[in-house]
Amino acid sequence: MKNIMDNIKRLKDQGRKVIGCFPLYPPLELFHSMGLAPVTLWGLRDSLPRVAESDRHIQPYACSVARRLMEFLLKENSSALDGLFMYNACDTLRNLPEIIDCGLADAGRPPLPIFKMHIPAVPPDQTDSRPYLRASIEGLIGELEKTCNVTFAPDKFRRSVSLYREMRELSKMLFASVADGSMSYGEFSRIVTEGWFIPVEDQLLVLQSALRDNFRKKTKPSPESPRVVVSGILPPPLPMIRDLENAGITVVGNDVASQNRALHYSPPAVDDPAEYYIDFYHHHYPCTTLLHSADRRLPAIRKLVSDTGARGVVFVGEKFCEYEYFEFPYLEQILKEMGIRALLLDISLDDDENTAAYTTRIETFAELMHSTV
Ligand code: SF4
Repeated sequence: MKNIMDNIKRLKDQGRKVIGCFPLYPPLELFHSMGLAPVTLWGLRDSLPRVAESDRHIQPYACSVARRLMEFLLKENSSALDGLFMYNACDTLRNLPEIIDCGLADAGRPPLPIFKMHIPAVPPDQTDSRPYLRASIEGLIGELEKTCNVTFAPDKFRRSVSLYREMRELSKMLFASVADGSMSYGEFSRIVTEGWFIPVEDQLLVLQSALRDNFRKKTKPSPESPRVVVSGILPPPLPMIRDLENAGITVVGNDVASQNRALHYSPPAVDDPAEYYIDFYHHHYPCTTLLHSADRRLPAIRKLVSDTGARGVVFVGEKFCEYEYFEFPYLEQILKEMGIRALLLDISLDDDENTAAYTTRIETFAELMHSTV
């Protein structure tokens, strides 16, 4: 938590207004182009092991992502932020704004401006939702200009688009090193996670340096290593990644929402932010939380498994995330038809510190995979 707060403080010291973005896919380029500093609050797992404050407001059967977001805000961190951004990613997040308002009032803290946007849930080939999304983006820009005293400029937007595009491309190149066995998936996850809390310019420096270092120490992967795709909202907790790697498993495909689903697609730069985000959301890598893309999920997973030559899929299920859990039985079925093994690891708040229980399951899975490579 100290690192996260230090990074936010550094941004404030530079005179930036910090917008805490709730997962999953906020319009980062837009905030950046308007001089705001977006921090995506995905990576609180390793920073907030307890959620005592949040438990006073959110039921224990909500996912750990939402409970940690709430804990982060109630633990005096809200004063470091100049606003929050959220959209209709899931029912849990949809209900948070009112709970946040009540929680902050209850704790005697001033309210935070909450910027909201609605991403249409209908597939674009069924209903033309572009005018609605355009109005949503334009409304957000107007609200940011008014509340944060900033202005939108097309040339700055193009520059921000190009920085985020480069960040996504470099991140994908770094993951290619994981897939070819020359970089640890744990190291990749650490670099991507830390990137959510630093400016994109610094992210680029970190990624360039990691790619240079990794190029120097390139090693040949073991051909016997079982190859898997990892899927989930968040990557596995670090002890679990260690278990996977100790068991000799190589992560060759990435279907993690906070990683490849977020990094996969950058539209071409244009002056019109509404046009950019219509393209961005409509062509986004399919995600359970982008309902308009739900029909593309199964073909995308099938393709990912085939393209990477993976022999197994490890699902990191965020307990109580109905979006991911609704999909799992269908995925399991198509993987079975393809002769691909699947392992479902349920993660809840209490499990993050007790991952030893998963070690045996991971080792068994690896043994089964070894016997079929
Ligand atoms: S993990 Fe699932 S339920 Fe929780 S905030 Fe994310 S999408 Fe919503």
